[in-house]
Parts: sequence; C-alpha cells; structure tokens
Amino acid sequence: MSASPRSPKSPRPAGSGGARSAALERLGLRSDWDVALHLPLRYEDETRLTALDALCDGAVVTADAVVIDAQAQGRAPRRQLLVHLRDAGSAQETLTLRLFHFYPHQLKTLQPGVRLRVHGQVRQGLFGWEMVHPGWKTVDEHAPLPTTLTPVYPTTAGLPQSYLRKAVAGALQRLDGRDTVPQDERARHHLPDLAASLRILHAPPSSALAALEAGEHPAQRRLKFDELLAQQLAQQQARTQRLRRKSPALPVADGDAPLPQRLRAALPFTLTAAQERCVAEISADLTQTAPMHRLLQGDVGSGKTVVAALAAAQAMAAGWQCAIMAPTEILAAQHARKLADWLEPLGVGVAWLSGSQSRKEREAELLRVASGQAQLVLGTHAVIQAQVRFARLALAIVDEQHRFGVAQRLALRDSLLAGTQGSGLQPHLLMMSATPIPRTLAMAMFGDLDVSTIDTLPPGRSPVRTTVVSAERRDDLIERVGGLIAQGRQAYWVCPLVEESETLDLQNAVATHAELSAALAAPGQAAARVGLLHGRMKAGEKRATMQAFSAGEIGLLVATTVIEVGVDVPNASLMVIEHAERFGLSQLHQLRGRVGRGAAQSDCVLLFTSPLSPTARERLAAMRELADGFALAQKDLELRGPGELLGLRQSGVPGLRYADLALDATLLEAARDTAQRLLQSAPEAARQHVARWLGEGFDWLSA
Ligand code: ADP
Ligand code: MG
Repeated sequence: MSASPRSPKSPRPAGSGGARSAALERLGLRSDWDVALHLPLRYEDETRLTALDALCDGAVVTADAVVIDAQAQGRAPRRQLLVHLRDAGSAQETLTLRLFHFYPHQLKTLQPGVRLRVHGQVRQGLFGWEMVHPGWKTVDEHAPLPTTLTPVYPTTAGLPQSYLRKAVAGALQRLDGRDTVPQDERARHHLPDLAASLRILHAPPSSALAALEAGEHPAQRRLKFDELLAQQLAQQQARTQRLRRKSPALPVADGDAPLPQRLRAALPFTLTAAQERCVAEISADLTQTAPMHRLLQGDVGSGKTVVAALAAAQAMAAGWQCAIMAPTEILAAQHARKLADWLEPLGVGVAWLSGSQSRKEREAELLRVASGQAQLVLGTHAVIQAQVRFARLALAIVDEQHRFGVAQRLALRDSLLAGTQGSGLQPHLLMMSATPIPRTLAMAMFGDLDVSTIDTLPPGRSPVRTTVVSAERRDDLIERVGGLIAQGRQAYWVCPLVEESETLDLQNAVATHAELSAALAAPGQAAARVGLLHGRMKAGEKRATMQAFSAGEIGLLVATTVIEVGVDVPNASLMVIEHAERFGLSQLHQLRGRVGRGAAQSDCVLLFTSPLSPTARERLAAMRELADGFALAQKDLELRGPGELLGLRQSGVPGLRYADLALDATLLEAARDTAQRLLQSAPEAARQHVARWLGEGFDWLSA
C-alpha cells in the first residue's frame, strides 16, 4: 500500500515506532488528523453491569462474575478453555465462558475466587448461560465502569483495539482543533462544532447510541459535511487551476464546406436535437483558450460517437490533431472502423495504435503521428504512452473513461499537462460515458467537469422488450434462439461472472459455447454458426470474431462480459443473459443496450436461477420495468441501501468514507455552497480543511 497521494512531509503519525506504526500506516493513518478521522465501526455499551439472573438470550452485556473453575479441553486446533463463573453479587446464576485463544499464563490467572469483568453476547446453552469468545479482564471489587460507550475501530492484523483507542485519544489531544468551518457557515447549516463532534464520535455518552446507530447524530452529520466540503473545495480549486492553463482555440471554420459540414453531409442520418445541443456545447468550449474538461454522457446507443467525430472534425479543420482512445481493443477497433468510414473519404489521415500491433506497424504509425500526416489518432491507451509524439494535438477524447484505471488516467493527465510539443499548449479533453450518473453523484465525482447529456435515443428504435425467465425454461429458450437465427436475426448469449474468477468464467463460456453449438446444429438444417468471445482471447482473434459477427457470418455470439461496452451490431436483436441475478443494474443495462439498435423489435431475456435474494428480485423487476438509464442509475443508488452502521459504506465514489450520496444529497448541496463562499472569504481555512481531509500534498485525480 504505497500508492498514496500524500506528501512525505505529512505530520508525524500519532503512534511511535515499529510494527504498530507500520500497521497504522496500512490503515492509511499517518497524521493525527488521519487518526482522529478514523471513526468507530460500532460501539459497545460497557457502562452498566448486568446481574446474571437478569440475562436474556442474545443480549450483549457486561457482567462481573467470580471464577468457580477453569479447564482446558480438547486438543489443538480445537482446544478451548472453559471458565465457569458465578455472579459476583447475590444472584444464584452461573455463566460459562468458551475461549479459543488463550495462553498458559492466562490459565494461571483464572484461579477460583478471582473476579472477572466479561463483555459479550450471552446464549442459553445446554448447561445454562454461555459466552463464546467474550472480552474479559480481571478486576477488583471497586473497578470503575466506563462512563462512555466503548468504540470498536476498523483495524488490521497487529493493531489491537486498545492500541487504537490510545492512539485516537493522543491524536485528539494534540490536534490543532481550530474549526475550519466558520461559525456563520455552521449556523447556516445547523452543524455542531468539530472538536466536540470528534469527541462524541470517539467516546459518546450511552444516551447517544440510538442516534449514532441510525446515522442521525449531529456529530455524524458534521463529519459527513466536512468530508463533502473537502471534496468540493478540492474540485473547485482544480477548476481554478485548470482555467489558468491554455489550450489552442479551435474556431468553428467557415469558408467553403469545412470538414464538420462535409462530415454531416456524409452521414446516413441527421442528428437528434439532443446530439445537436451537445455538439454545440462542445464546439463552444473548443473555441476558447481555457482547456475543455467535459463529460459527454448518454445512454448506450444514444449516439455519442458521431458527436465525438464532429468535435474531432472541428479540431482537424483548424489544422490540429485529435486522439480518441477506448478502454478495450474491440471498442477501439470499432471506433476506428466507423470513424475511418466517415472521415477517410473526406481526406482525413487516420492512424491506429494498439498494444497488439507489430513493432513495424507501430513504428510506421508513430511516424505518421509525429509528422502530422495522421490528423486523427485512434487506439487503446497505447495512444497515451510516452513514445507517442504528436505534431499538433489539440483534442483528446476518452471513451468509457470510467473503465480506465487510475494509472492510465494519471498517464493521460500527465501527457495532457506535458502539452503539445513545444507549443506550451494543453489539449482539450472530452470524456464519454455510457453510465448515466445521477446529478448528486456527478456533482460529487466530477465537480471539476462540465457535463453534456444526450438524453434521447435516435428515432426509429423500438424499446427493448425485457423478460425475466427462470433457468428451468432454458431449453425452450435455446429452441427459440435457433428459430430466430434461422430467420437471419442475430443474438448474444452472455455468460456470467463465476465468483470473480476469470478462469472459471472462461470455462463456463467455453462450455456454453460447445453446448449451444451442438444444440443449434439441428439435423437437416444448415448449422447456425456460434461464435465465442472472452477476455483471454488475443486481440486479433477478438477482432476477427467481432468482424464475423458484424458481417452476419456468426448467428449467435456467446460471450463473457467483454462485450459490455460499446459494441454496435444493429442486426442483433436478442440478448440472453444467464444468471442475470449475479449482475449489477448498470451492467445489465449496458448489456441490454447492445440490442435495439436496428429497426427490428428487440428482446432481452434475463435468465435467473432460484432462489433470488430480495435485492436481486428488485433489480430484475427494475430491469423489466425501466428502460431509461438514468432512472436505473437512481434505482441502483437506492437499492444499495444504507448498509453498514455509522456510514462506513462503499459509496463507490473515491475519497468518500462517511457520506452516502443516495442519502446525503442535501448535505452535498450545502457543502458545495459553503465551498464557494469559503474560497472567497477564507482561503486559508479552505486550504487547511483540504489538507486535513485529503493530506498536505493532495493531488486531485480529476482526469
Ligand atoms: P453510443 O452512444 O452507445 O456510443 P453510438 O455512437 O455507437 O452509441 O451510436 C449507436 C448507433 O446509432 C450507431 O449505429 C450510430 O451510427 C447510430 N446513430 C447515431 N446517431 C444517430 C441518429 N441521430 N440517427 C440515427 N442513428 C444514429
Ligand atoms: Mg460508444
């Protein structure tokens, strides 16, 4: 875990020396602020003692009891220590502890008559009350009880809770507790003081337990607000910095039939109003010297490629180069084919760069890029590798940008910052995504991003009919597929992820391919060709298979989720997804978007295997009922639900540990609002706030 955006100059960690501080480091806890912001996962109430005759099954309690006897039983690794206890007061009840990890010296301390304080869940066992693996310590009669709830922190091997509690207490004492959110902002949004909030969260009074468990305590709101504020501040700062840099201004060419006009004239369709709006927004950005930083989002099949092509045409018409990159070779190849079909006849030189091409081919292409002979450069992330020198790059377009890894996004950003050869200018950046993002999420993730949305599909598409079918009817379905293919239609058959294992995944797809090939080779009928596509195939093989499918030579394409993004074969009108219950909503929607691209009525069949979990059932129902990607994305956010106690949920947004965008949308608005005012009126507090939350050397991954 070394990849951290923190600068090495962060304040000293709260702990000291050796294995413990290495363990703290593993949790990402370096500065006192990191430690102070390491919030408990849950709390235990050890503030009250329960007498043994007041126990009830399943309750988590603290009790004082006296050892009757202690004996080790069984042998390793099943060895356990049974400790029999009687109530320390007047009650007659007894309690048995079962301990699995113990040391000989502990056995020695557990002498008859010794008083223990135990904490854990009680069960009614065969021989009376039992606690399995409880917390325990020896105490004397007058040992005081804690007055606050006991925090339980997320931790890692080699870092006991007791150590973390001390580290937190130390950090809280050393902190410069100055509140970076000014009093008037706190009042405006009804937020408590930060230092008090932290104290409460690390050591709350037992009366606060219910509110904390519900995630509704004001101290929790305060922390979520601060987290969101840090993020909004960082994004607004990134924006300010970006606007200080310069890109080439790319005027909308007039004169005699400039390239964008000729491209429009050559298209077999006219743009939708939504596409026109996005083209205009992008075009206006490109005429500016401030670098464009725009996300073009539109549901699958909404027609983003042509919008990108028109932006590219504007750059090329102004005498500059454009690079378009896609996350997978299949997708990149498909772009290349489509764009080359559109643009090459208009005299545009197109270059192709990918990891799989031969060295000789690659070198020839690199020369054409460097000389400027190629105006449009297409490919995978090979396009942003260091050896690639552009003559005059003015626009970089990234398709399905969220699929690129962090390292690739950074490489892209660096190559953008490095600018176009010698000119000191930085290319404009257009990102495209088919994962529609609800507004709150877009604001949180992409504060430093302008967003254009294609919100309607091209005309003439009939909506995809979605049916949810039990896997018991799989054979009927195979027969139907055979019938469709005999009529010259085409279909996809998607095999699911098998427990995240690529190998099993592959076996599964290979087996399904064999099975369907055999089933569809009906006697007396020309055997329908069944193709196979999976992630382990060589790029060339994948491309050949996709080409054969596009050309209609393959009737049924069995695939793993490699086809999830971008593939466009209008004649394909049936999508079968096996074990649809294992897919997430957005994945299902992406897959479904592969059909319904032609005029024919298209179908999506979601095969499921019982029993279905309640969420899986809801997901499949949502797929059947909702066609719109935005509605599905919103549903997805809701279905993921409130999750863990205290808001330590996976929100899916980098850098958000506490806030949940499905639930905290109003708080996000508030944070955004405060961020704007703070940057104006208290820039030093703003800087300090970002440093606390994101580290001193914070490097915002906005690309
Ligand atoms: P995506 O947004 O998923 O990348 P594409 O750009 O691949 O979508 O477009 C999907 C299909 O729709 C392509 O075959 C494309 O040529 C076609 N298309 C795009 N715009 C229009 C339009 N305005 N009218 C008709 N067809 C269009
Ligand atoms: Mg696309």
